[in-house]
Amino acid sequence: ILSADQIVMQFGGLKALNRVDLQIMKGTVHGLIGPNGSGKSTMMNVLTGIYFPTDGKVNYGGILISGKTPSAIALAGIARTFQNVQLFGEMSATENILVGLHHSFGSSLWDILVANRSDSRHEANARQRAASILGFVGLSDLADEEARNLPYGKQRLLEIGRALALNPGLLLLDEPAAGLTAPDIKELTEIIKKIKGSGVTIILIEHHMDVVMSVCDIVTVLDFGQKIAEGTPAEIQGDTRVIEAYLGSSQED
Ligand code: ATP
Ligand code: MG
Repeated sequence: ILSADQIVMQFGGLKALNRVDLQIMKGTVHGLIGPNGSGKSTMMNVLTGIYFPTDGKVNYGGILISGKTPSAIALAGIARTFQNVQLFGEMSATENILVGLHHSFGSSLWDILVANRSDSRHEANARQRAASILGFVGLSDLADEEARNLPYGKQRLLEIGRALALNPGLLLLDEPAAGLTAPDIKELTEIIKKIKGSGVTIILIEHHMDVVMSVCDIVTVLDFGQKIAEGTPAEIQGDTRVIEAYLGSSQED
């Protein structure tokens, strides 16, 4: 569904990505792991158009997307969450989802939310869909809470819900389990499996190896901006290059 070819991302003298190839197969959960600073988030930023790669090309569904804007890429079907949760704090859970839906429903939803010009038919549709997405990520009970008042684990799930509102073909998750409690991680793991079950392809950046092992079909390992290994979770777990890469770095989380 996605192929990144020979991606280079240079920041001054630093090559955060150095000729990385990535092939993402439709319907899979593809793990992207590696020590701190290895280039994982940079790759996600290249795939979503936040960074324009110094070299290399990204194709999604047969269309060249490198060089397109983040919103064009979102409309093409790639949604994401961020390493640091990015929500509209003073808006309710439902409203945060409606903002995500704005892209798929068009400007009329923007009228409802921001300009306060209500088109009741559209609004009813959008609210119904928002409610179903909140149900999917287990947040029905918290629909009217302000995002900033939700527990951190629920904020993570809300951010995933907002990304799903785009009705993406590919969902990119940047360390969704970071900072979560064990029960939260278990819930997140189930939701990732459910998203995969609904036919959405996923790229998962994650330091929690138990999550990687339980949900990923294939895992790519980065170290110092280069791909050092790729394989099934079991293959990666036993790969000495991977273990050495992690031993050579001081992990922050
Ligand atoms: P972590 O696990 O800590 O999130 P990561 O694998 O996501 O790490 P990146 O955030 O992709 O790592 O960073 C890779 C390298 O690129 C790091 O050395 C980082 O300092 C550098 N880097 C990332 N973004 C920029 C930027 N906008 N300007 C300059 N350097 C950057
Ligand atoms: Mg990162």
